[in-house]
Amino acid sequence: PWDDDVWEAGNWKMNPQSVSEASTLGAAIASSFSASTPAEVAIFAPAPFLASTLAAVGSSGVQVGAECCYHKAKGAFTGQVSAEMVQSLGVHWALVGHSERRVLFGDDDAAVNEQVLNLVGKGMGALLCIGESQAQYEKGEAEKVCTQQLNKGLAGVTEEQMKNVVIAYEPVWAIGTGLTCDPATAQKVHASCRSVLASMFSQGVADDVRIQYGGSVTPDTIDEIMAQPDIDGALVGGASLVAEKFERIMNFKV
Ligand code: PEP
Repeated sequence: PWDDDVWEAGNWKMNPQSVSEASTLGAAIASSFSASTPAEVAIFAPAPFLASTLAAVGSSGVQVGAECCYHKAKGAFTGQVSAEMVQSLGVHWALVGHSERRVLFGDDDAAVNEQVLNLVGKGMGALLCIGESQAQYEKGEAEKVCTQQLNKGLAGVTEEQMKNVVIAYEPVWAIGTGLTCDPATAQKVHASCRSVLASMFSQGVADDVRIQYGGSVTPDTIDEIMAQPDIDGALVGGASLVAEKFERIMNFKV
């Protein structure tokens, strides 16, 4: 069940190059996580390194998630990874709809919705990524795009299943570019997402759901981001690959 805690998550993408590199990084992050860390923490790791990363974080309390799970359980889908496969390792979360999946691998809103429904239907958690492109941002369409992606991505999800959904607002132009969205602007979009969730589900869901910000978050920007009332954590790419940087992000100060 949700509480008021926040969730700082790292998305390693296809960056760690070996079991040992992933394990060293996972162990370093886990060793800096403690009862006094002001956030829950998760690492989203490449599929070949899920088992070794789980072993590396051990019983630290750091969670490990998958970067993508196809919506089918089994069959002739060469190269895909199912929710069942990662669940059998002890992985309970997956990213869905990261902009790199949407742009590079054709995960459109319908595919995103199938993945979300599959995950929550199996009792897994879905971290649904939404966000506008640079062109959409320049046209002032951030809130409109996020509304559409929430409506389509979460279609058919029940209010009960929303307990297993986290949203990450990631303006595409801010991902991996060093351009962080101005915190006040991000706050506005987060508040708008919350009101969309209130109309789709209930005010209770809107109040409880965690909405992370993602896009070039660093130790220098995390505190101001976390100070925003509707920002409940960060989804961190580049800075999650450097243990000391991610440690500072986990230990944000407000
Ligand atoms: C991401 O991949 O979700 C992300 C936000 O990356 P970065 O922090 O590197 O911009």
